[in-house]
Amino acid sequence: MSLPERAVKVCLLGIAQDGGRPQPACFKSCCAPAYDDPSLVRHPVSLGLVGADHSTHLFEATRDLAWQFGCWSRNDPVDGPLSSLWITHAHHGHVDGLGLFGSEAISAKGLPLHCSASFARLLTKNTSWAQMMREGVLAPRPFLPGNSIIPYAESGFSITPIKVPHRAELSDMHAFVISGPKANLLFLPDHDSWQETLAAVGCDEIRGWLGDLKVDIALLDGTFWSSDELSHRQQDLVPHPPVEDTLERLGERRDGDPRVVFIHLNHTNPLHDLQSDEAKKVISCGWEIGVEGMVFDLSSAPQSS
Ligand SMILES: [Zn+2]
Ligand SMILES: [Zn+2]
Ligand SMILES: [Zn+2]
Repeated sequence: MSLPERAVKVCLLGIAQDGGRPQPACFKSCCAPAYDDPSLVRHPVSLGLVGADHSTHLFEATRDLAWQFGCWSRNDPVDGPLSSLWITHAHHGHVDGLGLFGSEAISAKGLPLHCSASFARLLTKNTSWAQMMREGVLAPRPFLPGNSIIPYAESGFSITPIKVPHRAELSDMHAFVISGPKANLLFLPDHDSWQETLAAVGCDEIRGWLGDLKVDIALLDGTFWSSDELSHRQQDLVPHPPVEDTLERLGERRDGDPRVVFIHLNHTNPLHDLQSDEAKKVISCGWEIGVEGMVFDLSSAPQSS
């Protein structure tokens, strides 16, 4: 007996940069209150996607998987084993929970892991990941940038990886476009700069690129508010386009623009405080700041702006 078709929905399971909030060992004013107040804790970025066929797909494997599965199932009930896992790149917070799929915890069997060829090579070089491959926990499915993947015939969506420039000491980086029955969503948690990304995709401006991708919702890298959030020496080592730069390029939201939701917030980012002047500026321009547990229904036509 086949199950009734479900709406294709994406749940935002984390809005923090790789270090989370509080970032371990940070006792400055950005993090100190979060050690004592669980409502201030934020988890590394991750998405949960449910298909029309009830299949379940996780984006990124963070160390906070238990909390994230709880958040996902409270907002868009999930049951049964995960159908597939998708990884953007090898930086710590995006993969540090991969081991949880092994025999010590979830004991997955042949979990399809969609990743780039460069990440698939890295899997064989890391001792504990290579062991999980030998045990048949993970089944890598390397993708090609620009090639759409429909993981299951009845899932009701496709996923297209897009290669974007991001410091690639371990693996390259791919954003994903999830194309649902009525709406499309871009997941771009990390990249180095708009200048490099727009050059790589052959566009002059963000709005034009999002239009070419036909996305209705863009979850964008909002790691830092400004270019001087860390000491210059430190911030130069971890380049991300500051939200100030993105706002300058986008201006205010116009008719027909997609929703832009900032995610991957560093612990130092004032956007964590929705009452801050910076958060008010984002919102007054018509854009959004990610909230853990937000659900995006890709089976419904988006509301016009
Ligand atoms: Zn990251
Ligand atoms: Zn901090
Ligand atoms: Zn990264």
